[in-house]
Amino acid sequence: MNRNKGIKQLVESPLNPEDASYDLVLPAGEGWLHEIKRGEVLRILDLEGNQAVDTLFYNADNPEERYSAADTIREQGSVYLTTGSRLLSTEGRPLLTITADTCGRHDTLGGACSAESNTTRYALDKQYMHNCRDTFLRVLANADRGLEKRDLTSNINFFMNVPVTPEGRLTFEDGVSGAGKYVEMRAEMDVLCLISNCPQLNNPCNAYNPTPVRLLIWDASAGAES
Ligand SMILES: [Zn+2]
Repeated sequence: MNRNKGIKQLVESPLNPEDASYDLVLPAGEGWLHEIKRGEVLRILDLEGNQAVDTLFYNADNPEERYSAADTIREQGSVYLTTGSRLLSTEGRPLLTITADTCGRHDTLGGACSAESNTTRYALDKQYMHNCRDTFLRVLANADRGLEKRDLTSNINFFMNVPVTPEGRLTFEDGVSGAGKYVEMRAEMDVLCLISNCPQLNNPCNAYNPTPVRLLIWDASAGAES
């Protein structure tokens, strides 16, 4: 276990943003649902630093098969995600593989913020603040892909720093990411990617200042040339 031992495995990508076939800036508090074809490469770029990007993946042809945090953690023997991590499905198959990472590690334990977690963690009057769960639901409601509340399962928080303490507790800590850092992953099958660019204002996962991220996709051929 703990093959990664929390060591930052910083790997840069050879891909050039000028060659990307898709390029979007997603403001904080906004959601995004997009199909990524097998072989395509998705980069999530932290434009201003310390941003949390809540993310779920589904098999595009059969969304009943979706990202499994438990299988991913067990198979890689580490609780953090970084270069080399295979993001496994509920069927144990790789949905995507992280191929580059200049941040060093990403959380898949902390879950997505919600009205419920905001009230229990912070204060009752935080119930009406924007949160990732509501963003996920809003995007799914407008997407017409047959996905809904029951399809929201344990997610990935790219760039978020949720260290496990020696006592086995989780803490939300100041981010390890910075402006211009990115994580990049290659789709191993056609996948649906659902993102909530986290609007959280009550803990340091966004440095109390949610900021935009840039989403880039390269065609399979671009990834193969590198
Ligand atoms: Zn959030």
